[in-house]
This record gives sequence, C-alpha cells and structure tokens, in this order.
Amino acid sequence: MIKETAQERAVSRMRLIDAEELTEMAWRERVDTRERIVNLIARQPTIKAKPMKRGRWLPAKDWFMSKCSECGYELGTVLAAGYICCPKCTARMDGDKE
Ligand SMILES: [Zn+2]
Repeated sequence: MIKETAQERAVSRMRLIDAEELTEMAWRERVDTRERIVNLIARQPTIKAKPMKRGRWLPAKDWFMSKCSECGYELGTVLAAGYICCPKCTARMDGDKE
C-alpha cells in the first residue's frame, strides 16, 4: 500500500471558492475574529472550475488581421501578438504549444 504524503492529503481536501465573494461577505458582515473568519470560509460554496479554452491566432481573410481559432474574433495581427488571451472568448492563445 502506498502512503499518502501530507501534501497529497492537503491537496485532496482543497476546494475552489470565490475569493471576491468571500472578501465582500467579510466586509459586509464585519468579520473581525479568527473564529468568524474560519466560519465564513467554511460556509463558502464550492464552485466548479471551467476548463480553460486554448486557441491560437490564425490568419484571417484580410492579410493584416488574425482570427481566434475558438470564436473567430478578428483583431489586427500586430495587436493580436500582444494578447495572451482572446479578448472576446478568453481562450488562452497557446493552443499549439503543448
Ligand atoms: Zn476567441
């Protein structure tokens, strides 16, 4: 039997929560003690992570334009080179760098 390390145990107990919502709730409810903070974190619903879309800039119909491989959004090629993500669909533009 393979034993689980402390780090693996910690990772298996992790869950995704909305930090922005947690911060707003802490201010709204004037959470000011350690016990209340722990309680507030425990009450946060677990949210589902969306799988990250990956795409790449493809040549568009006009020679000076590029289009997103995921949504077809077109942008000037010079501008597109500066974008890590598609400004329309948020696909990360490293789709061919696996
Ligand atoms: Zn896109």
